[in-house]
Amino acid sequence: MPCLRHPPQPHTRPPPPYLSPPRGPKDAETLPPLTLFNRTSLVVKGARVYQLPDGSHRHLDTLHKGRGAEIETYNGRGHHMGAICPQCGALKPGSIVPGRRLER
Ligand SMILES: [Zn+2]
Repeated sequence: MPCLRHPPQPHTRPPPPYLSPPRGPKDAETLPPLTLFNRTSLVVKGARVYQLPDGSHRHLDTLHKGRGAEIETYNGRGHHMGAICPQCGALKPGSIVPGRRLER
């Protein structure tokens, strides 16, 4: 089963474990797993912040669960770059919050 929120993809995979019953994903349950990236000392609303090789940052949004699960993203300067699907990485339309910064 591909990502349940976005169009089917050629490769199938099991549904993410956080869909049933709906809960917030764990850092290791996203694709790719957030735990592959550099773990920072930052925590946002209970979610660990990870830094990617390009200097950008990501953390789970602890308020969204199941099919509504999201990863918040920030560029290398800490500016909010929107929320993405934790399974396929698709940007959630309209999710970029102008002026929002990663708290340090
Ligand atoms: Zn998706």
